Amino acid sequence: MKKHSPRFLLAEAAHSLRLVFFDPRCRRCGNSLVFHDEIIVCRNCVGEVLPVSGPVCLRCGKMLNDSARLCGDCMLRPPVFVRNVSFGLYKGALREFILLYKYAELHPLRRRLGGYLLELFETQLDERFDFIMTVPQDPARHREFDHLLEMAKIVAKKSGIPLLKKNLVKRRKTEPQSRLPLKQRLRNLDGAFELKRPRQVSAKRILLIDDVFTTGTTITRCAELLIRQGAEVTTLTLARSV
Ligand SMILES: [Zn+2]
Ligand SMILES: [Zn+2]
Repeated sequence: MKKHSPRFLLAEAAHSLRLVFFDPRCRRCGNSLVFHDEIIVCRNCVGEVLPVSGPVCLRCGKMLNDSARLCGDCMLRPPVFVRNVSFGLYKGALREFILLYKYAELHPLRRRLGGYLLELFETQLDERFDFIMTVPQDPARHREFDHLLEMAKIVAKKSGIPLLKKNLVKRRKTEPQSRLPLKQRLRNLDGAFELKRPRQVSAKRILLIDDVFTTGTTITRCAELLIRQGAEVTTLTLARSV
């Protein structure tokens, strides 16, 4: 019989107790969580996450129907960042996991979502980076719980790249971009972000992390501030909605 470490046995025992007393259920579908690796959400729901696959635009990471190297948008107007890569599609399970983590603050989801970012980083990006940074949250939110920073710590720890905090900041609350028409989206973010220590990022290679890539307006605004200092920016995003 395989011998397990005391730590493993303890974890198993804790897991069994959890099942007996709490009857934990998946926060997405309500199924009972019975397996050791099912935390907050069940294996079925995890299996429903749709990864970005097939040919993608080499600049913005958009899924393409053919093997063109660039999407129409990037051909017309190349993005300011070197490249964006996204883990999955912002719908179904992944969208709900992100919302459960960000708004319901179900902290154990950090490991799963941060793990997706790490997997993406390790499989898609072999460049070297000087710093990891995250798109800042609204000032009021930021003080409580910064879900991006928490996930970015997982990538920073494993890769050894320093996580640069409190340099790129948000000065004021803005309307959610997804609710606005394009013209207002651009104006909505005017002067919203600021670099506290611009010289720190001067001529550095930055990996900028965000959760959802929609039109890329938010991450572009942040990237522009860094690029103005001579930095080179690559973006890593959990999900893309287009
Ligand atoms: Zn489920
Ligand atoms: Zn593109």
